[in-house]
Amino acid sequence: MTTPDNSDLFTNPMVEISEMHFAFSERPIFAGLKMAIPRGKVTVIMGPSGCGKSTLLGFIGGRLRPNKGQVFFDGERVPQKSGPPLFTMRRKMGMLFQSSALLTDLSVYENVAFPLREQTDLPEAIIRILVAMKLEMVGLRGARDLMPSELSGGMARRVALARAIVLDPEMIMYDEPFVGLDPISMGVIMKLIRELNDALGLTSIVVTHDVAEGCSIADYVYLLGEGQVAGHGTPEEMLNSEDERVRQFMNGLPDGPVGYHYPADPYLRDISTIE
Ligand code: ADP
Ligand code: MG
Repeated sequence: MTTPDNSDLFTNPMVEISEMHFAFSERPIFAGLKMAIPRGKVTVIMGPSGCGKSTLLGFIGGRLRPNKGQVFFDGERVPQKSGPPLFTMRRKMGMLFQSSALLTDLSVYENVAFPLREQTDLPEAIIRILVAMKLEMVGLRGARDLMPSELSGGMARRVALARAIVLDPEMIMYDEPFVGLDPISMGVIMKLIRELNDALGLTSIVVTHDVAEGCSIADYVYLLGEGQVAGHGTPEEMLNSEDERVRQFMNGLPDGPVGYHYPADPYLRDISTIE
């Protein structure tokens, strides 16, 4: 699946997904999905709403199990059952949800400290330092005593980001991190994703339906479509792709191989039943 030019990206990938099949009851979502996430890079996974991007993150984080196929993280198979091996693996993964999901009755400081209190026995003095460092990284050290209701949408997402990195994960997954933000806040989040990836030596996976934002921060792009990878490459390769499906999505064209119409009975039959 690697092209010769990008092959160095894929030696020892952080995540590898092989021939994955998955359906929600009868509804197929993935059929033979294959993917490798390069280590130390920002990989953006794009695709239309409902194509299974959030679901895919669920497999990597071990919240969902494929019907067929395997998911590897850092060379190890993601455990099939909830339990200590899965919790150990999850500690190496940070996750930023679209909703930010801050605990509303806890201050900014306590929200960021939360994973440390839950998962470590560190003394308060160390927690204080770690929280200050992570808040400083997202530019919100001065906001430590605010409550979530006092934060703008962009600030809330930055606090959630500080919380996602407080246990020093090796990888961070972002689910639609740009949704609902004004252009300035969006720019701040984009800059942070890149800076944190490079400064902390992280591997980042960003799920988005937004082509422009996705391409501007990606080292590598996957486009999902019809239960598989419809295309992959560097942002430049994707934007210049000759492939019809890739072009349609990257250029936001209403018409192309992906139909505009939801499957329906023939139109003439429908309108001819009107008496
Ligand atoms: P995306 O993140 O790309 O917008 P999702 O991964 O959220 O898409 O969902 C993929 C498809 O699976 C959607 O059609 C959605 O309605 C469906 N789906 C998601 N979660 C569930 C669930 N828990 N049960 C049944 N169907 C689901
Ligand atoms: Mg989603």
